[in-house]
Amino acid sequence: MVLIDTHCHLQMKTFKDDIERVVDDAIASGIEAIINVGFDVKSSEKAVELSRKYPFMFAAVGIHPHDAKMYNSNTLADLNDFLNEEKVIAIGEIGLDFYRNLSPPEVQERVFSEQLFFAKEKDIQVILHIRDAYTRVFEIIEKEKPKKVVLHCFSGSVDDAKRGIAMGFYISFAGNITYSQGRLTDAAREVPLTSMLIETDAPFLPPIPYRGKRNEPCFIKYTVEKLAEIKDVSVEDVAHITTNNAQTFFWGAIHG
Ligand SMILES: [Zn+2]
Repeated sequence: MVLIDTHCHLQMKTFKDDIERVVDDAIASGIEAIINVGFDVKSSEKAVELSRKYPFMFAAVGIHPHDAKMYNSNTLADLNDFLNEEKVIAIGEIGLDFYRNLSPPEVQERVFSEQLFFAKEKDIQVILHIRDAYTRVFEIIEKEKPKKVVLHCFSGSVDDAKRGIAMGFYISFAGNITYSQGRLTDAAREVPLTSMLIETDAPFLPPIPYRGKRNEPCFIKYTVEKLAEIKDVSVEDVAHITTNNAQTFFWGAIHG
């Protein structure tokens, strides 16, 4: 089984002491690529550093809605510098989070729009973080019209999923799909496998049976198993198709 963890944060402090073991376990569990996603300038830089160190790691760079208040006139220049690195393959995670509102909503919206415009200009993939803000994100997206988008750690409704798919976006599921929330299960049932990506969002959102612990890439198999059950297909099919999707989306691979 070959898998890609399309979204995690191994650059965070919590992995400082045992990253080698985490990497070994990821490889042993069939993960062939990991994308570490930035949430501010510092974590983006650290994701780039990891991508230099480990052949199978890649990086996304961007300012998370929680950190939107840190955004300043140098930020886009910093992100632009990171884009010169060969293994930086997306802008993210960017978006809106009206659940926690750690930055004021109007600041979030400005920072999101500017980075979305920047990503479009650079013709690079976008990783979206959306929490309690799907309607507003879709309004902004309809204005900016980015093409290469993944809705990371999907938490929306069936209609939100359908709307994203109609726009040609990928929908990414994380460990919280194992928590068996009816709404999320309904959404996953609605998303065709060909529009699906998988991720851990480690260290966050550990799947059952690791809920309450620190999440790691090797736990991705529980998400694969749950999606196979929901879609009523084999685990191998979920692995194979989502890996192909990730290769197509992030690396532009052509599949026959
Ligand atoms: Zn994340």
